[in-house]
Amino acid sequence: MDEVARVREKIDIASLISEYIPLKKAGRNFKAACPFHNEKSPSFVVSPERQIWHCFGCGKGGDCYTFLMEYENLEFFEALRILAKKAGIELSETDFVKKDTSKKEIIYSVNKIASDFYHYILTKHNAGKKALEYLTKERKIDPRLVETFQIGFSPNQGDILSKYLLEKKKYKIQDLTEAGLSFTRPGRTADFFRGRLMFPLFDHRDNIIAFSGRILQNSASESTSIQSGSKYVNTRDTLVYHKGSTFFGLNLAKEEIKKEERAIIVEGEFDVISCYSRGIKNVVAIKGTALTENQISLISRFSQKITLCLDQDEAGFEAIKRSLEGLEKKGLTTTVVDLGDYKDPDEAIIKDPIFFKNAVSHDIGAYDFLISNFLKKYNKEEAEGKKKITQNLLPFISLIDNEIIKEHYLKTLAKELDASLETLQKEMEKVGKKEPANVGFIGEKKDKRVRKEILEEYLLSLILQSEKAEDHFKMTDEKLSEYEFELPSYQKIFEYLKSYFKNNQNFNIKLFAKTLPKETIVVFDTCYILPLPKLREKNKYSEEIEKVIKELRIVDLKNKIKNIANNINKKEKNKEETKDLQSRLSSFLKILQSLTQASNNGASVVK
Ligand code: ZN
Repeated sequence: MDEVARVREKIDIASLISEYIPLKKAGRNFKAACPFHNEKSPSFVVSPERQIWHCFGCGKGGDCYTFLMEYENLEFFEALRILAKKAGIELSETDFVKKDTSKKEIIYSVNKIASDFYHYILTKHNAGKKALEYLTKERKIDPRLVETFQIGFSPNQGDILSKYLLEKKKYKIQDLTEAGLSFTRPGRTADFFRGRLMFPLFDHRDNIIAFSGRILQNSASESTSIQSGSKYVNTRDTLVYHKGSTFFGLNLAKEEIKKEERAIIVEGEFDVISCYSRGIKNVVAIKGTALTENQISLISRFSQKITLCLDQDEAGFEAIKRSLEGLEKKGLTTTVVDLGDYKDPDEAIIKDPIFFKNAVSHDIGAYDFLISNFLKKYNKEEAEGKKKITQNLLPFISLIDNEIIKEHYLKTLAKELDASLETLQKEMEKVGKKEPANVGFIGEKKDKRVRKEILEEYLLSLILQSEKAEDHFKMTDEKLSEYEFELPSYQKIFEYLKSYFKNNQNFNIKLFAKTLPKETIVVFDTCYILPLPKLREKNKYSEEIEKVIKELRIVDLKNKIKNIANNINKKEKNKEETKDLQSRLSSFLKILQSLTQASNNGASVVK
């Protein structure tokens, strides 16, 4: 386990995370829009000092390992292996390491061998001859692209791949079934893919996670393979593959997408390959009906602009509509390519590559596209048509976050329908108001904690991040002498601060952190990096602490008063007890009165 700590020590969290998301300097920390939830104002904080990250929006956080595991969806061991390599530390082959050379790794390796096998059959073996002819002659695919995309062919015999993997490559039957390459029948193991063109599906880290198998003939009835009927068959969900979580071609396209600052999204493998053959390389295929949330999240890592270039049929139009909400939520710019009379990108490229290139560079805004489509679909001269058009469009326009852009489209629509902007705005209100954004410096955090707890966190943050931590701690300690914190961890941190200042004069965060019990570290780190409002003027900072203390005392007193009042009402007591309770009650009430008299605004922590 020592290796885990050694690797952690060598990795700088800020440079690691900045390889994945852009970080901005913010005081002694870095900030970013959180990659794990949707947000517009950044609440994801990285602390080089503490070597941690934390999102104040969704609450996720941790060290270099948890970041990588979360971001790349990895097991701990995979993250360790990647980080060890980065750190230049060779891991010893302990049992711990071996045991976890996980099932995932086995699936990647068996998929790679299967892919090589299919590719060999297609390019070198007689059994693949017909398929190769189909690809190069009928689909006009350059043989070099057969290499680039590692296309293969699965022979039509029932168990040829399974046998090869079991006998020659010494895999276990379980490995094959877990990869989705084979299935078992009593007494035998059979290949899952038969008589199909094989497209390996890579993740963006170049592991083969699944396959897509396409029948050779265009009409299913001609097919003799056992899965005849469906044109495409994909690997079932496995440990490494989940439908709708990735794109075909992303491994090859990701650098080009970054460079071009846009991702072109098409439906199928042949669309990607055709685009590639014409030098358009920032293209990936959905392999499904509409973009999933996972796919949107994944593609947004590489570009903020998405161009949908889907089939020109009703299904393609539906896919655009269904994808748009997720894209808008993620704050991505979406455009659409109009392919005119061609049914899909592949056909357009083969028949008229110049037209296609033109269409791609003259992509239109997704909302313009929708407006023009609905205007074509319904008659805008008739009342019923106008109603249909607005009913269909307003839900989309209401999604637009930017008010200026929203108004732009409403005006466009108003002009087309010969209606007033106000009427359309009224109609749109019926569509349903969006959740208002939660303003406040903590950002979009949806805080379900009680105010007492939020204030305590804020107070500790103010002390821990103070340039005069000792003064501010002592001031607090004096005023909150009998105070009890809501969270045991806060109470503990406060007590450890007390003993720290008994023994030390200068506040050193590293030294202090070392004194803390393990279970409080995460809470402590969170306080230490909690973004604070700008209070750097010296007296403002102390003033803010005083405000928080005062509010906490009020909350505390109110709770105490409530408890005593309940107690008095509850049960029969002797005179002494009642008298005692009553005198405590009146003294608390007096303090409360004095505290609340001087009307003062609360602390600037979330209202
Ligand atoms: Zn988050």
